[in-house]
Amino acid sequence: MNNTQRGMRLHIGVFGRRNVGKSSIINSLTGQELSIVSDIAGTTTDVVQKSMEMLPLGPVLFLDTAGIDDEGALGEKRIEKTKQAYERTDLALIVCDYNGFGNFEKELFEEFAKRKIPSVVVINKNDIKNIQPEKLEEIRNYTANVISVSANDQASINELKKKIIDSVPQEYLDNPQIVSDFLNEGDICLLVTPIDKEAPRGRLILPQVQTIRDVLDKNAICLVVKETELNKSFDILKIRPKLVVTDSQAFKTVSEIVPHDVLLTSFSIAFARLKGDLKSFAQGANAIDSLQNGDRILISESCTHHQIEDDIARVKIPNLLRKYTQKELIFEYSRGHDFPENLSDYKLIIHCGACMTNRREVLSRIMKAYDSGVPITNYGITIAKCLGILDRALKPFSINEKRTS
Ligand code: SF4
Repeated sequence: MNNTQRGMRLHIGVFGRRNVGKSSIINSLTGQELSIVSDIAGTTTDVVQKSMEMLPLGPVLFLDTAGIDDEGALGEKRIEKTKQAYERTDLALIVCDYNGFGNFEKELFEEFAKRKIPSVVVINKNDIKNIQPEKLEEIRNYTANVISVSANDQASINELKKKIIDSVPQEYLDNPQIVSDFLNEGDICLLVTPIDKEAPRGRLILPQVQTIRDVLDKNAICLVVKETELNKSFDILKIRPKLVVTDSQAFKTVSEIVPHDVLLTSFSIAFARLKGDLKSFAQGANAIDSLQNGDRILISESCTHHQIEDDIARVKIPNLLRKYTQKELIFEYSRGHDFPENLSDYKLIIHCGACMTNRREVLSRIMKAYDSGVPITNYGITIAKCLGILDRALKPFSINEKRTS
């Protein structure tokens, strides 16, 4: 994901006075060390830009700015560069410490408010000293979007991530591409949609319709077949499809038919990226290998659709998992906007494709799962793993990473 084009990344500007711990906050948010340009006179005045992946939000670009209270001739130049960074900031973190808001922070806050750029006030270093209540009150007079953290305490950094997710402009949460970033104009994309008991009468389901539109918007060629016609389709097509996207339930049959030089994934995995975070879900699936007898698994469905006899959540996924793990597992369910407060009893959460909800809600659930130390994955990834084809199903996404470099 680090190769996502810069313009498409959320730009998080980190502002504040010198020595309030701006770089430490960035390091803790990303779990990586930034190559910091020091404040020593004679070094560059440029804002340090670093493309990073901030789980579970995905690719972001941090703008690590010089102290807004910098001094001297070089300091003035740095402040000038910092002010230029306002122009490319999508979300501002205004970092201060237990000393609270002064004129510098107030000016920063007002600047971003004027520009209608969302900002979060981050009071750092609460491991050294807590801010006095009257100073906190003064900040709260400006904004309720304030959080007290220590860059050394991951629990508080996770709270900050939640605030960031809540504050991110909506357009950065909605990645409009489902699979079209793997396609060029004129490429063939073949969609496999079984028409079984779960299929609604007389229409395709939303993820299928949205994927068709996504392919057409790329001026690629979209073909739709049932899995029973897939073999014949390969026989009659003069040009091989670039990509096959299948319903997860037909994954096994489809993976046996589609030649290995054709990219293959599922609607559910494509939606894991669109509506959640593919990397977090892929990591979460590793927990399947350590499940034990009696472990409880939460299956989370984002809508309250009518359940059928052969339901994917109640029958197909539990059966696949029991067969793969050879363990007696206990399955529990949450539906719609309900999601349990206490997740600590679960060994794994499996989320649906979330076609009826937005990415913000799924990202919040991923953060909740992180907080509770419970791995989280999704339907398509679980099915692909149990069928032994997860690497293949994730391959288009790593190919995409190379292509966008
Ligand atoms: S929101 Fe989830 S459970 Fe409902 S139809 Fe979409 S993928 Fe299925």
